[in-house]
Formats: sequence, C-alpha cells, structure tokens
Amino acid sequence: MTQRLYLTDSFLQSCETQVTFCQPDGKGEYLVGLAQTVFFPQSGGQPSDRGIISDGVVTHVSEKQGEVYHHCNRPLPVGSQVVAAIDFRRRFDMMQQHSGEHILACAAYRLFRANNVGFHLGEDSLGLDLDYQLTPEQVYLLEETANRYISMGLPITTRILTDEEYHALPMRKKAENLKGEIRLVTVGDLDYATCCGTHCTLTSQVELVKILSCENYKGGSRLELACGGRALADYRWKNQLAYQLSHRFSVPVGQVPQAFARYEEENAQLRKTLKQRSTQLIQLTGVQLLASRETGPICCCLEGWSTEECKELLSLLCKDKGMTALVWNPQNGRINYLVGKGEQEGAYPSAREICTQINTLLGGRGGGSATFAQGSAPAGEKSQEAMGQLEDWLKNSRA
Ligand SMILES: [Zn+2]
Repeated sequence: MTQRLYLTDSFLQSCETQVTFCQPDGKGEYLVGLAQTVFFPQSGGQPSDRGIISDGVVTHVSEKQGEVYHHCNRPLPVGSQVVAAIDFRRRFDMMQQHSGEHILACAAYRLFRANNVGFHLGEDSLGLDLDYQLTPEQVYLLEETANRYISMGLPITTRILTDEEYHALPMRKKAENLKGEIRLVTVGDLDYATCCGTHCTLTSQVELVKILSCENYKGGSRLELACGGRALADYRWKNQLAYQLSHRFSVPVGQVPQAFARYEEENAQLRKTLKQRSTQLIQLTGVQLLASRETGPICCCLEGWSTEECKELLSLLCKDKGMTALVWNPQNGRINYLVGKGEQEGAYPSAREICTQINTLLGGRGGGSATFAQGSAPAGEKSQEAMGQLEDWLKNSRA
C-alpha cells in the first residue's frame, strides 16, 4: 500500500521513491504504483494532482481499495527509483479553495447554525450548499466573518482520531459509518471536520474568500465562491470590465449603472421613432406602388428592409382583393421573398404556385398557402436576372 505523504505534509512537492507496479490501463496510458507518493488522488469532491514521475507525465490520480493509481503517459520499470513531483501551482490553488470552503462553512455554522450539505471543487469553480436560506445581509456578514478568520492566521491542522475522540468532539457535522482511519481537520479552535483533502496550514494562506453568488437552492442556499489566487483573478477581470464600461460611457465607474439606464432610455426612444418612420415608409411605398401600377402583379425589391417591414407592406398591398404581389429583400447572402394575394380568386397563380416557381428558378426553400407564401434562396450573380425572369413569367401567367 502506498504511503501517502500529502496527508502529513501538504506543502511537500516531490519525493524519491520506488515503482511498485505498472500496468496498461487499456486506453493508451499506464497505471503506476509507488511506495510513497506526494500525489493526492481524486476523492471527497477534490480533483487529483497532476505532475511528473521521472520523465512520465501524470495526467490523473485515482484510488481503488486503498491503492493509489498514477495515470502516466509512459510505462516505468517496476523496482526502479524515480522522482515524483506534483504541479504545485495547481495543488496550492486547490488547497486555497478547499481550505477557504472549510473556513466559510465554519463561519456559516457559527453564525447561523447552517450546515454544509454539498461541496464542489473543480478546475475553475468552487461551490458550497447550505441547508439554510441566507438573506443578502447574511451573505455579507458570512463573507466578512470568514475573511476575519483568514486574517487571524489561525493554524489548520490534521490528525488521526480514535473512535472515542471522534464521538467526544464538538463537530459541526459528523459523517455516518466512517470506515478506517478518521482524519480530523481543525481550524484554530473554531472548527472540527473530518476530511481527506489537502489544506493550507494557516488560514492566512487562503488570502481571501469571496462569495460570487448566492441563490436559493432546495430550501437552502447554493454559494459560488472563489478563494486566494482565483478571487484575485476574478477581481482583476471584473475590475477591467468595470473600467472598460466606464470609458465607453465616459463616466466614473460608480456611475455606470445610471449611464446605462440613460442609454437604455435613449435606445427605447430611438426604437419608437424608428418604428414610426418605418410605418410611414411602408405606407408611402404602398401608395407609390399602387399609383404607378398599370395592370398585373406588383414585383418589388426592397433593399435594406427587414422581413417584418416587407410583410407589413405586402399585407397593405393585398387589402386590394384582386392584388398579386411579390416582394423580396437581399440579406446575408440570401434573397428573402414574400408572396401575397388578395382574397379574390385571381387570374394569376396562387401564392403557393408562385413560391414553387421561385424555388425552381433560384434553388430556394419555402412554401405557404394560396394567399400567402414565403421563403428564401441563395443570392448569386444571376439572382437578379432570375428575379427579372420571374417577373416576366408572373406577368405573362395570366390565365
Ligand atoms: Zn478538507
């Protein structure tokens, strides 16, 4: 069985040891066993360490029935002496997040008797569930208290407990049916919890715990957190974002919300004006088209118009019950077309028939009813010519 050095020294970055087994994992990697290891295997909600064993790269570490398996990209000779070293930047990040979670859970219990009922630690996320619904004021108080514990530089220690000690301790949460050795993690004399993970040795090494969000979850609260380096990185990009917005609006950072509200108001006013102008344009175009119409269907290209505007114009034109009208607008490399017919049985083909003809001529897609059809076709060099042909076909298709 591997001797797990990280249990007694979480700051130990490497060790010299011996390869005890090496077997292919069937997926192109090798499962390597060591006499001693500095690698933490994935467990208790904490991702595993990564690193190297001599010139082999360890991508993952797992455990099964008490044995530690180092997933290595190359085989290592059994019995050989090797140096095993972890990626300590990653380990320290995990230690900061994990210890920060202990400290926050401890503060939540001491302040509100809230129990930690869920924990998630990922490559870039840290989550904690409490069986207590926090108000926004309580979230602030919780964050302040946890950061006060951090600034106090309290020792975080681990030790193995006897059964009697375990039952006698004032723990915030006692795990049921613990098997094997019980490992206790204490934060000063504030908190006692069982845990198999890797932790900082002083609360001050966590540097900072920030509650990023808190939402109601299953009658309690789900918190998203960032500690230490992650909290700083989070502050950095949010600070940059705040200053970018401040420059965009030409106001101090604190006035961005008001500036944005003014921007939204102006935007709403512009949309209202635009809608009025658009309605006027549709009506004027409708009047012009009807006035310049001789006989037969109306065919019209409406460059720059939205499909919604084209539709409004079409319904205006088709108030004339004898009308057949085709309008189209080129947009993003396609021609969007709409066909409308007044309700009167006309001498011209139905909207659906016209649509079929367009699709045949232009290689388009679409369909509809006898009085309305719509679709689109790819716009190419020849599409203008094709629309011309279509216009001729339509005008000559009087039954
Ligand atoms: Zn822990």
